[in-house]
Amino acid sequence: MASKKPADVIAAIATAPGRGGIGVVRLSGPDLAPLARQLTGRAPSPRLAGFSRFLDAAGREIDEGIALYFPAPHSYTGEDVLELQGHGGPVVMELLLQRCFELGARPAEPGEFTRRAYLNDKLDLAQAEAVADLIEASTAAAVRSAVRSLAGEFSRAVLELVERLVALRALVEAALDFPEEDVDILHEAEADSRLSALVLDVDRLLNGARQGSLLRKGLHVVIAGQPNVGKSSLLNRLTGEERAIVTAVPGTTRDALRETIQVRGIPLHIVDTAGLRDTEDEVEQLGIARSWKEIERADVILLMLDARTGMTAKDRNIAARLPGNVERLALCNKSDLAGRAASREVVDGQVSLWLSAKTGEGMPLLEQELLRVAGWQAGAENVFMARERHTAALRKAQSHLREAQARRLHAEILAEELRLAQDALNSITGEFTPDDLLGEIFSRFCIGK
Ligand code: GDP
Repeated sequence: MASKKPADVIAAIATAPGRGGIGVVRLSGPDLAPLARQLTGRAPSPRLAGFSRFLDAAGREIDEGIALYFPAPHSYTGEDVLELQGHGGPVVMELLLQRCFELGARPAEPGEFTRRAYLNDKLDLAQAEAVADLIEASTAAAVRSAVRSLAGEFSRAVLELVERLVALRALVEAALDFPEEDVDILHEAEADSRLSALVLDVDRLLNGARQGSLLRKGLHVVIAGQPNVGKSSLLNRLTGEERAIVTAVPGTTRDALRETIQVRGIPLHIVDTAGLRDTEDEVEQLGIARSWKEIERADVILLMLDARTGMTAKDRNIAARLPGNVERLALCNKSDLAGRAASREVVDGQVSLWLSAKTGEGMPLLEQELLRVAGWQAGAENVFMARERHTAALRKAQSHLREAQARRLHAEILAEELRLAQDALNSITGEFTPDDLLGEIFSRFCIGK
């Protein structure tokens, strides 16, 4: 854990920009009592919500509200924290903030409060990340899993694995001290079953983390296809809103429209693209160029066709230009006009769905298919809000543990692989975290958090 204790006072508006009933300016730093006294005209009472006036340098009132003072170490950041709850107008908040700067505070950087909380051991790194994930959660399921990570459930699961790994390393290293015989150390130390159990449990945790990472990021779904096949209608059907303009004139969706919907708590970011066709219209060409950009970033491409014609030469042309490494589903839309019931078909590994964006027939099939592509497992236990950083660390730990199993007869290598597995696990909670990684993590936070 890094040990730097920042010595300056930071301040920021902690509430969202714009007008609101209440606005909060938050400060953190060493010894805030004198600043609080100058600002409010009296000594702050620890942890007591009290009506307070907020004064400018001349003693005139900037605003009035509630001042909350949390002396170190019992605060969010572990330092003195002062929260000024005033009226939530952008100008009055800004005046209050400027007054704090006048009294010696400096503007907080994004995530700096949480960064200080981490540096002061109030939170580990996975918990700090969960703070941002909770704020950004776009579905109720994502909120639930972020709250569990914030409460430390994910970190505890990781630490429990670390403890077992430490015990195992102690066994192996004790055996290393008696190197005269070429023995199967794991067997001799009766530790092989422990190692197998660890491999299984890392797998389990990885699975829960992968599911959580899905809840966080969701799936980027791009609807592509020729003009008029029903792309906008599908977006509307999925979102349940008249978001995209549906017309019978080809080429109406000039730009990419995006909507986030949720299916069983997984955010699906759906992008409706301009119909892909050759055109002389410059605006439409721009839209089509953007469509291709969206397509390149997709996790899943829904290639829409008209069920009445099936895959035409033009559709095949589009299909040939789609990136090969992205999942794709063929949607044969307008099944109602083709007189075909909703269904799913797999030919040569390519899934096709017959559905109707207009009547809604076949939509449950599409949702199911999207969940399958996303890798969502219904009823998966212990879903933790996790990031790629976490799943990458778990995968790394797992590969070192597997290597340890494979190299069990080479005592030194075995011990080293176990050590590396432990390092990988420790990186999740941030036992030793390089500054640049911290910078990257916290810079994505909002200011005031
Ligand atoms: P886009 O250009 O691919 O976005 O296509 P639109 O969503 O604008 O649809 C083009 C036309 O096809 C509109 O008149 C829609 O009402 C119609 N349409 C779309 N989906 C269906 C469907 O499933 N069944 C029927 N009968 N008409 C549809």
